[in-house]
Amino acid sequence: MGAGASGLIAAGRAAELGAQVLLLDKMDEAGKKILISGKSRCNITNTAPLDEFLTYFGPRGRYLTNAFHRFFRDELLELLGRYGVQTQAERGGRIFPSSGQAADVRDALLRYAVEHGVEVRYLAEVTQVTVSDDHITGVELARGGRLAADAVILATGGASWPDTGSTGYGYVMAQGLGHTIEPLHAALVPLTVAERATAKALQGVSLRNVRCTFWTREGAARRSTGVGEGERRLHIPYPIPDTGELLFTHFGVSGPLILTASIAVVDALRSGKEVILSIDLKPGMTVDEIHARLQREFEERPHLQLRTLLQGWVPASLADVLAELSAIEEDRHVHRIRADERAGLVKLLKGFRWTLVGSLPIAAGMVTAGGVSLKEVDPTTFESRIVRGLFIVGELLDLAADTGGFNLQAAFSTGYLAGAAASGR
Ligand SMILES: Cc1cc2nc3c(=O)[nH]c(=O)nc-3n(C[C@H](O)[C@H](O)[C@H](O)COP(=O)(O)OP(=O)(O)OC[C@H]3O[C@@H](n4cnc5c(N)ncnc54)[C@H](O)[C@@H]3O)c2cc1C
Repeated sequence: MGAGASGLIAAGRAAELGAQVLLLDKMDEAGKKILISGKSRCNITNTAPLDEFLTYFGPRGRYLTNAFHRFFRDELLELLGRYGVQTQAERGGRIFPSSGQAADVRDALLRYAVEHGVEVRYLAEVTQVTVSDDHITGVELARGGRLAADAVILATGGASWPDTGSTGYGYVMAQGLGHTIEPLHAALVPLTVAERATAKALQGVSLRNVRCTFWTREGAARRSTGVGEGERRLHIPYPIPDTGELLFTHFGVSGPLILTASIAVVDALRSGKEVILSIDLKPGMTVDEIHARLQREFEERPHLQLRTLLQGWVPASLADVLAELSAIEEDRHVHRIRADERAGLVKLLKGFRWTLVGSLPIAAGMVTAGGVSLKEVDPTTFESRIVRGLFIVGELLDLAADTGGFNLQAAFSTGYLAGAAASGR
């Protein structure tokens, strides 16, 4: 059940192998999340080699090794190609349909399923999976009625973006069937900061070419700039871009660099660590170069106020904030700024620090981390080790990866293999 990324391909594959398949979805059309994925362009997968691909899932990525060896990017693109979807690789190895239309991917998968005889039923919400003697017997529908089945593929997605149909109810059903649900939390999600007033003052400011580093601290004294005592660089177990875009919001920070790091940051926060974000606003300049340029500008334009001068470096509202954080009086002209104060400014420009305190809720994350314990699902068939004939795929599993097409590939690979295995039942 669930006509999303994993459910569509699972149904298609099971039918292709000769099974009689009924695909149930609570919404009025298939793949609503596919339609909005990749800003409606659908970042289907990634060109990264398999070993590197797995690292984007963190340590749990190893669980997908077998699945990716059997159905990976080439097989997926070949299948989509059969249904008219040509693709192209873009920056960061991200693969999109050449048409730029996510709907083409959804339609291709739907055609794959229907062409092989899958019956698709919309507005068909499943409320329960029925079991007898640890074997699947069928499902119950919200509108009443039971359907008998020899196998059920649970493909109901995570708890993110519930308007697309994935409300997290699949976790409830899996738990009801005896599965362990590893604690759920948001991933690929904007982060909240302790410095709310400063964030609010910067709301809407987007910085293009900045470098973010993340530091964890366990109980050391706070410092306003630079790297503090007792701080360690946060380990991010997958490659992240060196520089990129960051966006300030009224609650904190967002944008590609933040979403990418958010999985590791949320993990660290959940384990009780304090996480500091340090933004290098001028990654292309060394500390010495910034010193020299500031000094030169102070000499060339001695009667400017600091905030006006900083507007030549950063957007106006950020210049205001930096000037305020420097604690240099507003009406002091820059030629009267002392060397130690200039050093403080350099520190701010190279390490504008924020205390990260949490994230937006699961619903606002692009994916849900946590989920059905991987120990309880066979990684070669995605059949439950608890209930025979139950298959669990896609975002429901305790897997979450960075942006870049990795999450959809996982949904497609797990769905495809589960479809094949379920057809045997
Ligand atoms: C805004 C956004 C953009 C994204 N962009 C990308 C991207 O470009 N690339 C990428 O790799 N990943 C992306 N993702 C993540 C990716 O879309 C998901 O990880 C993926 O869709 C998960 O697939 P799934 O099959 O597990 O679940 P879903 O695709 O969410 O499908 C679940 C389906 O189950 C149905 N359902 C739920 N409960 C029931 C029920 N009780 N009865 C019947 N049906 C039910 C739902 O209606 C839905 O159709 C994005 C996510 C978001 C939110």
